[in-house]
Amino acid sequence: MVMTTQDQTVCYRNVDWLVRWNEKDGAHEYLRGGDFAYDGDGIVHVGRDFAGACAEERDGRGTMIMPGLINLHTHSATMPVLKGIREDMANPSLYMSALYDGWNLFPTPPERKRWNTAYAYGEMLRSGVTTVLDMCYPFPGWVDVADKSGLRCYLGGLFQSAQWSTSNGHSLDYIWAEDGGEAAMASCMAVIEEARQHASTLLDGAVTPMAVDTCTPELIRDAEAESLRLGAPFQLHVGESMIEFLEMTRLTGKSQMQWLEANDLLLEGMLIGHGIFLDHHSWLHWGTRDDLDLLVDIKAAVTHCPVVFSRYGITLESFGLYNDAGVTMTIGTDVFPHNMIEEMRAAAVCGRIADQHMHAVPTTSVFEAATSEAARALGRDDLGRLAVGAKADFVVVDTQVPEMQPLYDPLRSLIHTAADRAVRDVFVGGIERVRDGVVLSIDMADAASQVTATQDELMPDASSRHWAQKPLDEIAPRTLPLAQD
Ligand SMILES: [Zn+2]
Repeated sequence: MVMTTQDQTVCYRNVDWLVRWNEKDGAHEYLRGGDFAYDGDGIVHVGRDFAGACAEERDGRGTMIMPGLINLHTHSATMPVLKGIREDMANPSLYMSALYDGWNLFPTPPERKRWNTAYAYGEMLRSGVTTVLDMCYPFPGWVDVADKSGLRCYLGGLFQSAQWSTSNGHSLDYIWAEDGGEAAMASCMAVIEEARQHASTLLDGAVTPMAVDTCTPELIRDAEAESLRLGAPFQLHVGESMIEFLEMTRLTGKSQMQWLEANDLLLEGMLIGHGIFLDHHSWLHWGTRDDLDLLVDIKAAVTHCPVVFSRYGITLESFGLYNDAGVTMTIGTDVFPHNMIEEMRAAAVCGRIADQHMHAVPTTSVFEAATSEAARALGRDDLGRLAVGAKADFVVVDTQVPEMQPLYDPLRSLIHTAADRAVRDVFVGGIERVRDGVVLSIDMADAASQVTATQDELMPDASSRHWAQKPLDEIAPRTLPLAQD
């Protein structure tokens, strides 16, 4: 039987707070006391009384309905297993980074990566994420886990020409692949094809070479050509660490952005992962001030992941400066936790500290970064907003939980106080994936126990993978010593 429109339409009545997209202003607005209706995977009404027929009515009182959040930077398959280990870990002789002697301490075997990914996707859903751009070295079952999660997933296989390494703990080596990374790139393009051929319309791909310092210009050029051919988003890590800037300037005499420009590799609309250590960052004391203008010129989007960097004592300089200059600012959860609401809060707080000015980053800006600006970066005007014709990706926030009250401004209460504790239900393409705060599509207890099992399995040999074979309790001492009696 063919379902008619009336058969499928679901309507929330009398929603206390609707975060509605105002097309004329190109901005979100609050609508107090309205109806919200969707039909299949699309929104059909966001306004006052919905007059159409509907198959199901839900009571919207005591709620805010807002667009689902868009997380544009994660590495789900490798990071969850480092929880509890990396939060206080950094190498004092590598500019307080844990990238170079930490990346391979807990290498999850490919056959166990699906649990890390399921766990990360569950955390995202639980915090209101409906779309993710996830970057992983391809592993068996990735597309299947993405499909089962019910998230709208852009899968970006990671590939590169060289792998970081350090043999002495204070300088960086690059181990270059003989083919420059071309074979790895081909396997990542196959993931995009697999995602696009999948029966689920929620799956897509992105072209994501690893980093500006680990890819040859040829590989980046080939990857950009693939991105254009496939019409897929293109992401590159740029400005992630001090070391990266120092290595690039040592080898080429140019900042990363200027090296990309000199090699004709700046791609319009490219997604820049992190974009922190660009030529103007105060720690670098570099002589040019051109990189931010280059970002603006190519209409780049920067994905800011403030939580993990703030743990290192690092922040972007600054969210407000980039935003005001016209860079499309977006947000990602990167390592862990994958809590987009806490990430928005950190973006606001870190941005205000960086500029020493409270108004440098209004809460509005971080909400836009996680919704409409992220959708712009993906080239999707049907995501990140509640508007007729947009996808039914939305979050029902419980405004009655104590953490949301008093309730002068529900987005402020959500972002600065309640976070995921107020996320009640999450829908992606009209399908419920979180109900009453419980992820329906992923068995989180099972995923968590599997991630724990992986960490336990890798722990005994962690020291053997450290450049100096230091014991784990020296690399990452526990917060408290273990009692000896
Ligand atoms: Zn990253």
